[in-house]
Amino acid sequence: MTNLAKDEIIKRLQQAGIKPTTQRVMILDYLLRNLDHPSSEKIFQDLHSQDSVLSKATVYNTVNILLDKGLVAVLETGDEVAHYDVELHEHAHFQCHSCRKIWNVALPDMEVNNPSLPEGFISTGVQVLVKGYCVDCANSLQV
Ligand SMILES: [Zn+2]
Ligand SMILES: [Zn+2]
Repeated sequence: MTNLAKDEIIKRLQQAGIKPTTQRVMILDYLLRNLDHPSSEKIFQDLHSQDSVLSKATVYNTVNILLDKGLVAVLETGDEVAHYDVELHEHAHFQCHSCRKIWNVALPDMEVNNPSLPEGFISTGVQVLVKGYCVDCANSLQV
């Protein structure tokens, strides 16, 4: 699932009806290689060094197109920044309080498809966010 060949990325964009410009290919490639749910700011910072022509607006617009066409999902963690996720299968997230990084983790065993909701409510999905400390931060806390 990582390191897709460039033509596969182009194909994926075309299948979704997105014109595969160099910068769109670069941004989707970045998202497929960086599974830590980067924000558009982070994507811009990391890619700007490779392509100085790339603007924040291009990153922002591209991510919105990818979102619109269902190639990425957005993840709200309550820190007021949208994080982007190329893993579209149902999964849970773990966010470290200290370094703020986000990992994909397996969905805990729960009644995802049948949560106990009040009568008449309709569920369209479940988002699970586990918070805590990653192993690196946990180690540095226990001095
Ligand atoms: Zn951490
Ligand atoms: Zn994820």
